[in-house]
Amino acid sequence: MLQQKIQYLVRSTLNITQKKQCPNCSHTKFDCLDTKYLVTRLYKCKFCKLNFRFPVDSKSFLEAFYQSKYKANYSDVTREITELPTDEDLIGMMKNNFYGKRNYSPFVKALLKSDSAKILDYGCSWGYSVFQLKQAGYDAEGFEISSARAEFGRKIGVNIHDKQSTVKNDNDLILSSHAIEHLPVVSEYIRFAATKLVHDGILISFCPNGSPEFRAREPKNFHVNWGLLHPNYLDVEFASHTFRNNPYLILTDDWRYNFEQIEKWDGRSQIVGEKLDGQELLIIAKPNVII
Ligand SMILES: [Zn+2]
Repeated sequence: MLQQKIQYLVRSTLNITQKKQCPNCSHTKFDCLDTKYLVTRLYKCKFCKLNFRFPVDSKSFLEAFYQSKYKANYSDVTREITELPTDEDLIGMMKNNFYGKRNYSPFVKALLKSDSAKILDYGCSWGYSVFQLKQAGYDAEGFEISSARAEFGRKIGVNIHDKQSTVKNDNDLILSSHAIEHLPVVSEYIRFAATKLVHDGILISFCPNGSPEFRAREPKNFHVNWGLLHPNYLDVEFASHTFRNNPYLILTDDWRYNFEQIEKWDGRSQIVGEKLDGQELLIIAKPNVII
């Protein structure tokens, strides 16, 4: 972790003269929300409302980085994100449907009200969530930028694409869990996902909540949550601005959601939940439906 951090600081210092430009929309007017290690800043773009870390990393750097092993800091714990289970562990995990790992089937079911649909999990790591979705009856596949992790998914019988070009075009729902905050250009992902969804298709993104209400509640964690691994720190304002012409349901929570509220969403309205200070932001939208 220390070596990773030193490399990041050296890179940030070398990049400090980089042109200040929003990685999402290329605009050049920002507010500074936070600073770290003298050389890194969290800016909010005045145009697209994205909170992003400056200096930014190049696309090619990020692509190479996610092929490698890396670790992540979560407030007070450091986790080896890229660790893969042994074959022996895997057999036990498959038997109990990866119990203990977050299962997205209830979210999908609440939104689609159906047990059969085509689902893509974008940024699915080695695919346990794809396995769970398949167990729930969905026609599910994954996408993972790390070819090593995508390859590993074959061990549990799930299909994981490591190139966007091979992803099917007719998904009913694309979900990404804690992936969007790592991406070099969020808007490119949303455009890509829209082309891979049917007209009425749903895009779901879970990510850390960068909203000011969460910052007021947990200032220390807000400060920890952006940086090396999280170049984007999305908030409710960014989500509602990005999907301003589309139906959406935007919620924040501490990992438990009110499924009744999700079920009730009519797929046509724009709704922001009352709770804004949750640890996690959940963005649900229909990017191909214009209202
Ligand atoms: Zn912008």
